[in-house]
Amino acid sequence: MELYNTLTQKKEPLLSHEPGKLRMYTCGPTVYHFAHIGNLRSYLMEDVLEKFLRYSGLEVQRVMNITDVGHLSSDGDTGEDKMLKGAKREHKTVMEIAQFYTDAFFADCEKLHIRKPDTVVPATSCVADFIRMIEVLLEKGYAYLAGGNVYFDTSRLSTYYVFGNQNSEDLAIGVRDSVEEDENKRNKADFVLWFTKSKFDSQELKWESPWGLGYPGWHIECSSISVKYLGEYLDLHCGGIDNAFPHHTNEIAQSESYLGHPWCPHWFHVLHLNDKRGKMSKSKGEFLTVSLLEEKGYDPLVYRMFNLQSHYRKPLLFSFEALDNSAQAYRKLVSRVEALTPGGEPDPQAAKPYRDEFFAALSNDLNTSLGLTALYNVLKSDLSDATKRYLVEDFEQVLDLGLLEAAAKTESGQAQEVSADFARQVEELIAKRSEARKNKDWAQADAIRDELQKMRVVLKDTPDGVTWQVEK
Ligand code: AMP
Ligand code: ZN
Repeated sequence: MELYNTLTQKKEPLLSHEPGKLRMYTCGPTVYHFAHIGNLRSYLMEDVLEKFLRYSGLEVQRVMNITDVGHLSSDGDTGEDKMLKGAKREHKTVMEIAQFYTDAFFADCEKLHIRKPDTVVPATSCVADFIRMIEVLLEKGYAYLAGGNVYFDTSRLSTYYVFGNQNSEDLAIGVRDSVEEDENKRNKADFVLWFTKSKFDSQELKWESPWGLGYPGWHIECSSISVKYLGEYLDLHCGGIDNAFPHHTNEIAQSESYLGHPWCPHWFHVLHLNDKRGKMSKSKGEFLTVSLLEEKGYDPLVYRMFNLQSHYRKPLLFSFEALDNSAQAYRKLVSRVEALTPGGEPDPQAAKPYRDEFFAALSNDLNTSLGLTALYNVLKSDLSDATKRYLVEDFEQVLDLGLLEAAAKTESGQAQEVSADFARQVEELIAKRSEARKNKDWAQADAIRDELQKMRVVLKDTPDGVTWQVEK
C-alpha cells in the first residue's frame, strides 16, 4: 500500500524488511487517567491500518508499550511524573493507578473494536533492558552523566531534526515552551535517559542502576521495548502527531545510536481530534471519554464511524452535531444490512470490482471515507443480497463497524418487541393474501397489503416465501 511517511513527508509504498511480515510498533497510553476520545482516534486509525495490512495478506506483528513511569507533565523533562500525579489525585499507589487505567483503556478499545496488539508491554517490566541500552549509549559516547542524571547528547548526531516539519525554529520554540532550563544539559535538545535527581523527590517507583537509585526517562522505553520485541529492524512506527516531536525524534536518536544502523523507515502519525477549544488533552482536566458518549446514548461504534468518515491526516473537529450525523449514517447502514435476505450463494466474480474499489481506497494512504463509499456502492448496487452480504463481511474485516452484529440484534430485538398476537395476526393476513393471489383475486390481495401497511408491516417476497418486518 501507499502510506504517507512523516519522515520523508511523502506518500510512499510501505515496505517490510522481511517479505510477507510487517513489524509495527505503537506508542501506548500513559495510564494515569482515562483515555479521551482524542487519544482513541489515534488508536482507532492505527487499528484500521493494522486490519488493512492483515487483510492485504501480511503477517503483522504489533507491539505496544504502556507508559507507567517516566512521562513527565511536559513532553520534555520537566514537571511531575504523570503517574505520580494520577496516584496523588486518587490517593492510590502508582501501580494501582496503572492497573486500573490500563484495564479501562483496553475496555474502551474493545467497545470501539480496536484489536489489542499481540504484545503489550508495561514500561516498568523492562527497566533492566532500559539500563542496558543506556549503558551502551554511554559506552558509545552518545550519552553523558551530569548532576546525577544521564542525558542523551544530541550534538553527537549528524541529523536530529528528522521529521521534516520540525525545523530548528520549531524546535527552539518547543524547547522553550516545554522545557525549563536544565543547567545540566550540554545542548538545549538533549534529553534525560535516566533520572536520579529531579525537581521533585516524591517519585514512588525507583530502581537501582549503575548511576544510583532512580527511574527512566520517557523516550527510552519505546526504543528499548521495540528492539527487544521486534528486533533491530522495525517496519512501521505509529502514534499521534504530538508524539513526532520530541518523543519520536528522540526514539530515533536513541535506537539508531544504539544499533549503529537505520532503524525504522516508515512513520505513521494521526492528526489530532480537536474540539472548540483546540486539541483535546488529558491535562486540560475536562475531556470526553467513551463512557461519557455511552451515557449520552451513543453506541461507541458510532464514534468509530465518525472517525472512518474522515482522513487520518486531517485534524478532526469533534462536535455532538457531527456525531449525530454519524449516528444517523450508522443507523442507515445497519438497516440496509439488516434488509439483506439471508442465505444464497455469493457471486465472487460480480463482487470483484467492488472489492477492488475498496482495496484501492484503503491502499491509497488509508482513505477510509472512500472505503465507506465502496460499501455504500455495494449496498445500492444490483448485486444479489448474498453477494452484498459477502462483501459487507469482507469489508468489515477492516472497517469493523459491527454492522452484521448490529443488524442481527435489530432483527431479533424487533422480533421480541412484536407481541405473539400481533405476529399471529400478520401471519394470518399474509396467508390470506397468498391465497387471494393464488386465486388471482388481485383486489383482495391489494386490500390485505394495504391493511398490513397500516400496521406498518413491510413485506418482502423471497425465494423461500414472504418475510415481513415492522417499519421503524
Ligand atoms: P498519551 O496517553 O498522552 O501518552 O497519548 C496516547 C496517544 O494519543 C499518543 O499517540 C498521542 O499522540 C495521542 N493523542 C493525544 N492527544 C490526541 C488528540 N487530541 N487527538 C489524537 N491523538 C491524540
Ligand atoms: Zn513511544
